[in-house]
Amino acid sequence: MINDNMKSVTQRIARACEKAGRVASDVKLVCVTKEASIEKTREVITCGADILGENRVQDAFNKHAIINDTISWHLIGHLQTNKVRTAVGLFDLIHSVDSLRLAAKIDSEAGKIGKRQDILIEVNVSGEAAKFGISPDDLTDLLGSISSFNNIIVKGLMTMAPEAPDPEKARPFFKKLKEIRNSIDRTWDLSMGMSNDFEVAIEEGATLVRIGRAIFKA
Ligand SMILES: *Cc1c(COP(=O)(O)O)cnc(C)c1O
Repeated sequence: MINDNMKSVTQRIARACEKAGRVASDVKLVCVTKEASIEKTREVITCGADILGENRVQDAFNKHAIINDTISWHLIGHLQTNKVRTAVGLFDLIHSVDSLRLAAKIDSEAGKIGKRQDILIEVNVSGEAAKFGISPDDLTDLLGSISSFNNIIVKGLMTMAPEAPDPEKARPFFKKLKEIRNSIDRTWDLSMGMSNDFEVAIEEGATLVRIGRAIFKA
C-alpha cells in the first residue's frame, strides 16, 4: 500500500512539475511520518523516502533512536524553546521558526555543538488567529535580527494554507508566500503544500512539499 501510494505521489509531483514547466528535481518530498508507526516509517524509507517530516521533537527523537538510518529529519511542527537542544541535535532543517526568541535559542544551542542550523521561517500568510507563524509585516524585522546570528542559516519560508476541501482555495496563499520570497531571495526554498493541495503548491513554486496522508492512507 505505502509503496503504491509513494509511486502515485511521486508521479503526481512529476506531473505537476511538468505542467508548471519545472524540473521534478526542483521539488523535494518531505514524507510526513508524524502519525506513522516505526514499522510504517521503516517501510516508507524502503520505498524511497529520503526526508522524514515530524511534528513533535520527542516523537522524532524516539524514532531516530530506533531507526538510525542515514535519512534526513525535518521538523515541520511548532517548536518550544525547551525542546530546542534536542531539535538542533536531530534535525537537518527546522521549518517552523516564527519568533526571535526561538531563533536566538536555536542559535545558542547550535553554537554549543558547533552546528550551523538550517531553518525556514514559518509565515502566517492567511492571518488565521489559530495558526503559528509570523505575520508577513514582521518578517523583515525578524530576518534583520536573525542575520546577526552566526549559527543559523535561513534557507527559505514555510506556510500552511487554511484547510479547505478545494485545493484552489490554497492558491492565493501560496502565491503570496512566493511573492514574499521573491522580494527577499529568489533562491530560497518554499515549503508549502500538503496531501490536499501539493499540486497547486508546486504550480506556485513549492520546493518542499510536506505529505503525510496521501502516502500512509490505506
Ligand atoms: C501533518 C502535517 C503535514 C502533512 O499533512 P497531510 O495532510 O497528512 O499531508 C504537513 N505539514 C504540517 C506542518 C503538518 O503538521
